[in-house]
Amino acid sequence: MDSEESAKSPNVLPDITLIRRAEETLHRHVPEVGLGLDAVKEHLTKDVAPALNGSSQSSRYYGFVTGGATPAAVFADNMVTEYDQNVQVHLPNETIATDVEAAALTMICDLVELDPTQWTHRTFTTGATAANIIGLAVAREHVMSTAAMRNGRDPREAHPTVSSHGLHTAMAYAGIDEIQILTSAPHSSLRKAASIIGLGHASVKDVGHYPTGPHRFDLEKLEQAMKKSRVASIIVVSCSEVNSGLFATFTHNMIRLRQLADQFGAWIHVDAAFGLLARILPDNDPMYRFQKAGVGNLEYADSIAADAHKLFNVPYDCGIFLSRHLKTGTDVFQNPGAPYLNAEAGSVPSPLNIGIENSRRFRALPVYANLLALGRQGFVDMLKRQIKLARKIAEYINTSDDYELLPPYPHSEIGCYLTIYIIVLFRLKNPEANKTLVQRINSSGKIYVSGTAWESQPACRFAISNWKSSVEKDWPLIETILKQAAVGFD
Ligand SMILES: *Cc1c(COP(=O)(O)O)cnc(C)c1O
Repeated sequence: MDSEESAKSPNVLPDITLIRRAEETLHRHVPEVGLGLDAVKEHLTKDVAPALNGSSQSSRYYGFVTGGATPAAVFADNMVTEYDQNVQVHLPNETIATDVEAAALTMICDLVELDPTQWTHRTFTTGATAANIIGLAVAREHVMSTAAMRNGRDPREAHPTVSSHGLHTAMAYAGIDEIQILTSAPHSSLRKAASIIGLGHASVKDVGHYPTGPHRFDLEKLEQAMKKSRVASIIVVSCSEVNSGLFATFTHNMIRLRQLADQFGAWIHVDAAFGLLARILPDNDPMYRFQKAGVGNLEYADSIAADAHKLFNVPYDCGIFLSRHLKTGTDVFQNPGAPYLNAEAGSVPSPLNIGIENSRRFRALPVYANLLALGRQGFVDMLKRQIKLARKIAEYINTSDDYELLPPYPHSEIGCYLTIYIIVLFRLKNPEANKTLVQRINSSGKIYVSGTAWESQPACRFAISNWKSSVEKDWPLIETILKQAAVGFD
């Protein structure tokens, strides 16, 4: 599809009248006598479908970080529904499903160059939120054990853990009054995860660095916080930060984090929802040196959360969790005392013993299909196209009289906007006009951006994450709309 076709193609949001009409046709009570398949099919296709947005199907939807779904992934996902496997217990003589899942997870490790023999706790989740929950849960278990040892407890002695006796008893045994989560510019789901696992929103402490950017750790602040007595720490690395696409660490910084973590018995969890894929970018190309540095040395982390439904471009929902501590993962997630759920002996751990759910969808299959259909080169090309478009937008914003690129770093001095990954954060210089910027861009119906805030001011954000997006196809339309949205406010 060339740019002209792209400009003519359907809007990324359904017409509001179609949503209102669908609302009117929605059934809100179970019919006494069923409508039957044909009537339901007609209702879904004629009423519901036209009221859904084109976030996945369009290369021009830049809200949130939604990714898309490649034809291979869609094909596989339909197969998942049709065959409806329950991937919870490893039964290698009854279904290939758990082996496919294991193969997909191993291939993900290979793709992002994490040694699968090191990253032994691997599982698919519903998304990065669930992967962050798992990360904090295993971190909590681990830091309580290290704290107990630091408190003079004999590691060989059977001791109360969070998984065996709960947080309160484990903390008392370890001599710990507080578990803190130290991070910089975290995703909102981190506080939610902290709440779910019983640590609370207030346990999340931002030790971000000004003026180099709030996304970066202030290592001194971090160390000071960890030094406090009777406190156990979990470090969470934003990789990359959801508003700006900037990375919290860089290659040698990760080594320092590891030293601090080891010194204080902490755990390092990396929230790499859409950052992880940056590891596939070429090493020797200066165009990607900031992103490569941002994901450099992730090997030093304890666990990593990522999203397959974002940059891996498989349908919702699919996240990834990786950790180097299978034993801790099994301690926390073991589904105890259910002999009917015993796996046959094998090298693949049963998913129900290493993750949140028992029964779960065969969400590995679309990932498996995409990895095979695209191959490493296909993934690299897709990501390069997305980065190229993001940088094109950033360049326009930064050289325009009306707009301002955020955070206000000297992008142009660096040249080629090398710090830009797949996200472009910006605003109009005129504060009044800026208030309605997002609305004016989205009212075109042709593209969709997210409204957000940066340092308490309204801001606007492009996230380029669909496999179809490219400069050639999408830039002319974006340029036209950005020009129009600034008109009248010079
Ligand atoms: C999207 C995102 C999440 C949450 O992921 P879900 O898939 O929506 O659960 C967490 N962290 C970061 C950095 C994200 O971009």
